[in-house]
Amino acid sequence: MVVMDDQRDRQLHSDRVQTANLADQVRLGKLRWDRFFGSAEEIRPIRTFRLAWWYRPACMVAPAGPNDKIRWWIFGGRNVRRVLWGDGDPLVDTRKPSTTDIRGQLILLGTGTSVGVPTIGCGCRVCTSGHPRNQRTRCSVVFGLPEGNLLIDTPPDLRFQLLREGLGVIHAVLFTHEHADHIFGLDDLRLMPFFLGHPVPLYCEEIVEQRLRKAYDYAFAQEPWTHTGATPQLQFRRIGTEPFEALGTSILPIRLHHGPRFEVLGFRIGNVAYCTDTNKIPAESWPRLEGLDVLILDGLRDRPHVTHFCLDEAVAVARRLRPGRTLLTHISHELDHQETNARLPADIQLAYDGQRILLS
Ligand SMILES: [Zn+2]
Ligand SMILES: [Zn+2]
Ligand SMILES: [Zn+2]
Repeated sequence: MVVMDDQRDRQLHSDRVQTANLADQVRLGKLRWDRFFGSAEEIRPIRTFRLAWWYRPACMVAPAGPNDKIRWWIFGGRNVRRVLWGDGDPLVDTRKPSTTDIRGQLILLGTGTSVGVPTIGCGCRVCTSGHPRNQRTRCSVVFGLPEGNLLIDTPPDLRFQLLREGLGVIHAVLFTHEHADHIFGLDDLRLMPFFLGHPVPLYCEEIVEQRLRKAYDYAFAQEPWTHTGATPQLQFRRIGTEPFEALGTSILPIRLHHGPRFEVLGFRIGNVAYCTDTNKIPAESWPRLEGLDVLILDGLRDRPHVTHFCLDEAVAVARRLRPGRTLLTHISHELDHQETNARLPADIQLAYDGQRILLS
């Protein structure tokens, strides 16, 4: 027993020393961010623990900068120090997602208007048709780029859409605008940092960031997490109308008007453009839409609407731009898929949920 106690005491002492050492190394700047994350940023200790059941000292650290939210755990001791969770790039111990490879393809995840189709409480012909192409979830699209899956908007139906398409991982998100039907599925990306090893990059304009910070205030709170993955880990990347790069791909934003009060962004990636939630293309944006193979365009219904293109308006835009093909999205329950496509020109058709397009 004496020997056992001795061993235990030695272990406890050694743990204490190692825990203190770990914190000291961080405090003294000996352990630097670059050791783990490849950047030269300093880190500072926040809390130190000894995880007795692992016999390892642990230290919670954060960058020395002003972002108090970012926290990492460093586990030291007899094993190599490892970072198990946090914010930065790259992270070890990421999980491998089960996911379909969609490189070279685009999927229309949702093509419905803000309330979706069928619409709650509606007994109309389209809502009750049961036809799969009259089932429209809220608008979203994903591009399978060489460096990952680029999602445009996070609608309330996002979880269902990703499961339906077998998509286990989203590498980055672009936002068109801040309306509820385009942002209220963002929490579904809470699992992504496990796979990515870093927070989910969100490319958006300032007004969208403000809305997201308000709507998801818990994701930006200062309190430490209760457990890993408790809140979405998000990282904003500000965009405007200048071209930018995401996932190694050049993206051209397109300013669009969405009724009298809202401005949105469309996005062009190669020769494919996604322009939802708009009823007016300002003069400076037309040249950015020339020479397209595929134009995905707002086409709500037959009757005019104050914030969306109706079919006649969308057809006029397509006729002016002459893309190889136009697919209409953000579709209301007033349009039956088959009937409407039969009367539309062959190169201008209603899109449907789950539709895939090969990227050229
Ligand atoms: Zn919308
Ligand atoms: Zn209906
Ligand atoms: Zn909108």
